[in-house]
This record gives sequence, structure tokens and C-alpha cells, in this order.
Amino acid sequence: MSQAFIAPLLDIKAFAKAASTLSGRDALEKFERLREESQALGADQWVDWSAHGEWREDLSGHETMWLHLSASVTLSQICQRCLGPAEIPVKVERSFRFVATEELAEAQDDESEEDVLVESREFDLKALIEDELLMAMPLVARHNVCPTEVKLVVEDPDFEAQSGQKQHPFAVLAKLQGGKSGT
Ligand SMILES: [Zn+2]
Repeated sequence: MSQAFIAPLLDIKAFAKAASTLSGRDALEKFERLREESQALGADQWVDWSAHGEWREDLSGHETMWLHLSASVTLSQICQRCLGPAEIPVKVERSFRFVATEELAEAQDDESEEDVLVESREFDLKALIEDELLMAMPLVARHNVCPTEVKLVVEDPDFEAQSGQKQHPFAVLAKLQGGKSGT
């Protein structure tokens, strides 16, 4: 199923109670923050996502509402080992439990294994997808196996040029002395 527009604002309670499922494939371009991580490319890259609502009783008989999210994207980054372009796949699969208030969410988030969020009738699913993918990005982008051998000696044309024009240390000193020595 593909949405006309990206992940809509969700009424979480209704979504969970109906055990609804939404999924989509949206252009990376629409996710500004993610796109920045992909060298501002993104015209032909896609974020695939799927969200599923669930309403169930916990062990103590309380009704709880859940959102199960999975999302994936491939970002164009620079490999920090070989400095070549690297396509980095990023994937998340997480479940969120929703509670009524910010206070409850804060109190319960620490003591729960799952992530606890605040219920809303206009929950921004797109922002959640983007946040989660950003957090799932590897700290350092790297090929699993670099396509070329890593050069151990980095050739730096600037360095070569500089050393070619390198001045004699005394000439520099003479300049620093403000021309006293008559140069
Ligand atoms: Zn590499």
C-alpha cells in the first residue's frame, strides 16, 4: 500500500484499537534531516516504512496501546576508511508503548524496556520514522569491504607544492626582522 502523502498524523488510540497497519515508500527528499546525511542526494532514494497498531492488556490487566514500527533507507555517505562513496543501509524495528501524559511517559520510560511515548490524536509518524532512522545510523560510515585497497600513504598535492617553494629558513627570518638585513 502506498500513501498519497507520507506518513500521516495518526490518532494513536484509534490506530491501536483498530489494529491498523500503514505502510509506505516515500522519497528520501521529503525527510530533510535524513537527506542531509545522504549528501543532499535523495532523488532516487526511498524510505520504506510500516507501522502497526496494537491494543492489548499488560500482565496486570491494564489496557495498553502500541505502535510497532519498521523502516529502512539507504544513505549515500563517505566511507571513513577509503574516503570513497558508500551506500549505507539503515534499518530500524522498534515498538513504542503509548501513555496518556508526559509525566507518565517520563516516569515509565526509565523502568521499561520498551520506549514510552505520549499518546496523541495527531501523532507525527513521519518525525518518528526520521528520528529513529537518524539514531540507527552507524556512528562511522564504512564499507563492509572497501572496493579499493586503502592507501596507507596519502598523497597530498598541496604538500608537494609547498615543499617545492620552501624558503630558506634564514630568508624567512630576515623578513620577520623587518628588512633589517637589507633584503
Ligand atoms: Zn571504504
